[in-house]
Formats: sequence, structure tokens, C-alpha cells
Amino acid sequence: MSDHYVKVKVQLEQMKSSGEGVEKEEADMIEDEVLVASPPASVSPIPASCTPAAQREPPKTTVTCRNQSKSRSKLGKDEKNTGTKQDSVPALQGTIVASNANSGKPVNRKDNEQQTLQIKGTGKMLQGKTETNGNAVPIHLPEDIKVGPHNKEDANKVAKRRKPVTVDTFKAKTSLEALKLSIRQLKWKEFPVGRRSACDIYWHGVSFHDNDNIISGQVNKFPGMIEMLRKINLTRAVRTMQELFPEEYNFYPRSWILPEEYQLFSTQISLAKDGDVSQKPTFIIKPDGGSQGDGIYLIRDPGDLRVIAGSHTKQSVVQEYIHKPLLIDKLKFDIRLYVLVKSLEPLEIYIAKEGLSRFCTEPYQEPSQKNLSHVFMHLTNYSLNVQSGNFVHSDSLSSGSKRTFSSVLYRLASKGVDIKKVWSDIISLVIKTIIALVPELKVYYQADIPPGKPGPTCFQILGFDILLMKNLKPVLLEVNANPSMRIEHEQEVSPGVFEYVPSPVDEEVKVGVIRDTLRLMDPAQKKSLTSYPEHQQEELLGSPVRGAGEEGRVLPSMCLKQVFPKYTKQFSYLRTVERITALFLRFLGVKGNMRLGPTGFRTFIRNCKLSNSHFSMATVDILYIDVTRRWASMLPGSREAGMGLQAFVEAFFYLAQRRFKSLPLREQVVSLLEVCEAQLENQGRGDPGGALPEDSTSSTRRSVSCGRTQPGRTVHPHHMSTSTPGQALSAPQLCSPSTPRRASSQDYRLHQRLRPTHKGNVEN
Ligand code: ADP
Repeated sequence: MSDHYVKVKVQLEQMKSSGEGVEKEEADMIEDEVLVASPPASVSPIPASCTPAAQREPPKTTVTCRNQSKSRSKLGKDEKNTGTKQDSVPALQGTIVASNANSGKPVNRKDNEQQTLQIKGTGKMLQGKTETNGNAVPIHLPEDIKVGPHNKEDANKVAKRRKPVTVDTFKAKTSLEALKLSIRQLKWKEFPVGRRSACDIYWHGVSFHDNDNIISGQVNKFPGMIEMLRKINLTRAVRTMQELFPEEYNFYPRSWILPEEYQLFSTQISLAKDGDVSQKPTFIIKPDGGSQGDGIYLIRDPGDLRVIAGSHTKQSVVQEYIHKPLLIDKLKFDIRLYVLVKSLEPLEIYIAKEGLSRFCTEPYQEPSQKNLSHVFMHLTNYSLNVQSGNFVHSDSLSSGSKRTFSSVLYRLASKGVDIKKVWSDIISLVIKTIIALVPELKVYYQADIPPGKPGPTCFQILGFDILLMKNLKPVLLEVNANPSMRIEHEQEVSPGVFEYVPSPVDEEVKVGVIRDTLRLMDPAQKKSLTSYPEHQQEELLGSPVRGAGEEGRVLPSMCLKQVFPKYTKQFSYLRTVERITALFLRFLGVKGNMRLGPTGFRTFIRNCKLSNSHFSMATVDILYIDVTRRWASMLPGSREAGMGLQAFVEAFFYLAQRRFKSLPLREQVVSLLEVCEAQLENQGRGDPGGALPEDSTSSTRRSVSCGRTQPGRTVHPHHMSTSTPGQALSAPQLCSPSTPRRASSQDYRLHQRLRPTHKGNVEN
């Protein structure tokens, strides 16, 4: 029986006895493990903070008097300049006031520090201090695993003997406070102003390039992540997947890219309205690269767009507005979930068991012409709602305008919602989204850290913003490359006087995420843990041997849960574009390029034997020029010439359609991939049928490092089902309330415009 099960069960029992109406089936329904953190404070004591007062710096006080609105807008700008997306108000120049958020009294966490920890299955009790997400966490000592000393004393010795892991925090910016706490808890060594010799871990506040001189260790950002998570690029990446797997990717609202798709948008909307006059959809316009709700507005008519098609208009995404969100206390809310991409190759993804729910501050009404401009009703951004007089700062984790996600889940469970399915759908959404991003990220990665050259490895915490629809289907709003890791918030304690006060809910969630990310990235752990199965790794990380922190104190069990490769079986078939990317990288050349030249493209066609008397090399050149030009016009800022990955994927789709007719697109693409991979494999074995390109040695080497695993190699049409983790066998219905999204992307894509003319099913 899992720890979560015990907690959820206790929770439900308590709710039952307090008359909250939990039926028997509902308690039974969550017999299996539910991926949530500790129960909310409303029904069990608030988990002691992971930051016991004794561990923190003595609180200092800064009182600032200034004009509220002015300072806020300026601060917002500052954050933008750094490229950091924040869900909280940026730091004041100064220090933090440690006081109770509501009363202004100093926060006393000592009461919660001493906790009794029960060792699962032994009946033993340990005295210890609790941590974030560690509300009297039962600790499972994996007795069957012989990895070293198994008692606390030995654990202390091991912790003392081991050289502390070093972390360069010089560029950490707004995540510094939570990072410092985490490092202290782990008893690692911080280098706040950098270090002449190399550190094990470098923590950057914004991007991989915050410090370009790193040649070893691990950096907490991937090259290209910021770029890939801009609204337009995310939309394009998901859209490519929607073309191949429309059902699986219907969690992303139908979107159009402005200004280039303005005509398409207006036409499709007018057609939809002509079909059903009663349907008057609402759209949300989001500027590309915007954050914190900046520049976002709602419209009900394409004519109300503030951008007009043309080359100088602001790039944005216009998206179907989800008009029936799930409400709690009549308020719209969204979910911020923290996701760790531990590595790209092999792909490893972890999800934090705890997240944040951010509430609107004005009761929700379905959009109408009258309420379109009510931001406190329609936008859940913390940075906006905190400015509303209705915003409730709360010390409790389960009330107020920002709460833990688990408190929301428990509330839903008490109403009979199948929270296991909700979690399962969310995990599925997260994995699929990352699978959509990985291809382009691999291209960035290889351009910045070419194989064979010294460089760091990367990992990154992402912030997923998810909305639950009324029917509980999760919808992806956006992904933040730099989610706010602030654990304090600004509060006006008297008119015009602002203080920074600790935010218990932020601390509860975020310190756990950072600390456990560090634990997973511990260079020593990485080496020794990889030989154990995943469930044992988690136990090891939570055990005193591996998790010994300050004074050998036992750290709580991991708040990060591995979801990939754990659920590889259900998702590997979606990794088709990664296989196309492996081809792209193979023919790219070695100079850190991200664009394929015409010669590289020709070599690809020749080596994969894709040209013949019906498809001459002259046609190949025309295809190259046509696709490349079109993408160049869509990406006007780009200085590099040549064919980028998205253009290559489009050309590949075209070739697949041309060669394998009358099959669904995904099968055409997989069939062509198999042809290409088989050809290249033959050549690798010395088949004289095809020479490797001029830069064959290096590109072959690269493809080995980047495409080591051929993702989704064993794709069969019958595997193409929508299954989700936690429901490995029963696929949930990710039913779409809207029309299929495929049309929007297909209408304008080249492989649609250049329809193949040959008649047979297989051309060659
Ligand atoms: P930003 O990066 O500026 O925060 P988001 O994409 O997160 O932009 O959108 C801001 C807010 O707008 C979200 O937190 C959510 O409340 C609301 N929102 C965004 N997209 C939609 C949508 N398609 N349907 C309904 N609400 C949305």
C-alpha cells in the first residue's frame, strides 16, 4: 500500500467523519497510487515548512514607501528584460521581511519542526524535522538493496566522507532564496560569486547562455528552451504533432499564428459561424514571448483584432478561448505544475507531486461582449490578480488566491471526482508536450554542445500552466522556461508601504522542487543510481544513506516522480518527429549549424535513395528552395540561411505523402522513415549502394550520440492508441469539445499545396 494511498485514505475518512459526503466507492476508487503530495492543511496540520526558522538567515527588514501601480509596472518590465517569466512580483532592492503574511507578526515555524517520522513496515519511529512536502513522511528503507551503510550513524559518516557537491549560484537571480535553502538542506557547497575551478552544478536564472564559459558539470537550462517555449514556437511544435496524432494532441486549444494566418483565421471563423449561427466563439490573443498576462485580450470577432495582417505587426497567437473552465467557489483557476527534464538523450521526465493553483479574483461568467475586458474574471495570472482588492493572501495551503494543487484535488475528490484520472491525463499531457519539443531542442543542443567537444550536460525545471475544463479535461495553456521560483511575495502592509513576506504556499512547493532536482542531479547519485530500477532509485533518494542532509538529517521522500521513461511503452510511438530529427542532424554538418544547406539536403535524398526518374534531383532542389523560402518568410528574425528542422519536417511529410499514397499521414511518415533508416543502416554496414556524405565521419558520430535510441522505432498502426500512465491498459478519452484541429494546420502546409500527382500507392 503506497504512502499516498494512506494519506488520501486518511483524508477521505476525515472528510467522511466531518460530514463532507464522501461515498464508499469514492474512497475505494483511489485504491491505487495517486500522484499527489501531502493532504491539505484544512484536514491535517499544515506541513512544516522545509525551511525551519533556524535554518534561515536571521530576518532583516526593509520597508519601502512608493506608489503601488507605478512600481509594479516598472518591476514587470525588469522581469521581462531578463526574459524570466514570473508568477510573482519581482524582488525589491533589499532584503526580506520575515513576517506572518496576514498579521505582520514574525513567522514561527519552530512549532512544526519536531515531527515523528515513521519507518514504514518496521514500526520504528525517528525523531526528525519535516521538510517541504514532507509532512511526517513515512520513510521506506529499501532493505533489499545493498548499497552501503543502512543505519543513521553510517549514513552520517558517508555524508561526512563525501566531498560536498558544489553549486555555482552566481547567476541564479530570483530563484536564489529557494536554491540557497535547498543547498543548505543538502549540506552542499554554494559558490555565490562563482568559482575559478569547475563546479558540479551551475544554476542559471534565465538561460543556458547566462554563462557561456562552462565546459563541464551540469547547467540547469537547455539551449533553445526559451525560444522553443515562446507561444508561436510551442504552437508550431504541437501543431506538427497534431497533424500526425490529432486525437492525442487535442489538449492544446486550436490556435492561429498572427499575422501570417490572419486570413485563414478569419475565413475559418466565418465558415464556422455560417454553419451554426448560435455558436459565437471567443478567442484569446497572446503576444509571442509575452508573460504575466501582458498584452492579452479577448475578442469575439476577427475584426476586433488589434493586429492587422502585414509584415510589421506584432507576432501573436490567437487561440480558442476555453469558455467552460472548471470553477471552484465560482472562480476560474489554473494549475502550475513543475516538470523536470532531466535529460534529452535518453529522455527523462519527472513531475512534481505538488503544484500551485492560482485563482481569479472575480466570479466567472461565460464570455460576453460586456465582460470581455474583465481580466480578474478571465485571466488567472498571479501578477494580475494580486493587484485586485479581492486577492486573498493566505498562510494556509488550501485557501486563498494561491493554493497547493493537492488541496484542490482533495476538494475535488471529496465531491466524487476521479482524481486519479485527472492526474493521469495531466501526466499524459506533460509527456506529450515534451515529446513535441524534444526534436527542436536536440538541434539547439547539438549546435551549442557538439558531440566530442567539452561541454556541460543540461537539465531544466519547466512550469506547465494547465486549465481544467468543466468536464475535467486538462488543457495546456503554456509552458514556462523560467517559472518563478520565488518563495516570498510583496505585500502592502499599510498604505504605500510594501514588505517582502515569506509565502508558505510557494515555499512548500518550490523548495521541494529545487532540492529534489538537485538530489536527482547529484553527480554521485547519478552514477550509482542508474544501476537500480526506478522505484528503487526513489527509495534510495529518500533513504538516510542517499538523502542524508544537514547533520545526517533524513530528507523527505522525493516530491519529483519519474514519468518518462517509466511510461515509455505508452508514448514511444509518438516520437516520430524525433526520428526525422535524427536524419536531419546526420546531414547537418559539424559546425554548430542549425540549418541544412542544399548540398546536405541533396545528400540526404541521395543516401536514402529517394530520387528516381519520377523525382529528379532538379525537383529535389525546387522542393528545397520552395520550403526553405516559405519558412524564411515565416521566421523573419532569423539570420541563418538554409533549411531549419521545421522546414525539413515539412519536406519529409511531403516526400512521405508523395511516396506512400492513401495511407494516413502518420503511416506515410513512418513508412518513409523505415525506408531511410534501412538505407542508412545498409550504408553503415558497408553496402556499396550509397556513399556517405563528405562529412560522413563526423555526422555519423553525431547521429550515434543524438539518435542513440531510435525513438518509437517499433511503431505499428495498432499501437497508435491514446493511453495514459496510471491507466496503462484503459485509455482515457481525451475528448475534444471543438472541431478537429488538424484542418487549421494542414490547410496551408506545403505538403498540402504540392499534392503528389502519382497514382500508385508506392511510387518507387
Ligand atoms: P502569459 O504567458 O501572458 O501568462 P498565458 O498563455 O498563460 O499567457 O495566458 C494567461 C492567462 O489567460 C492564463 O493563465 C489563463 O487564465 C488565460 N488563458 C490563456 N489561454 C486561454 C484559453 N485558451 N482559454 C481560456 N483561458 C486562457
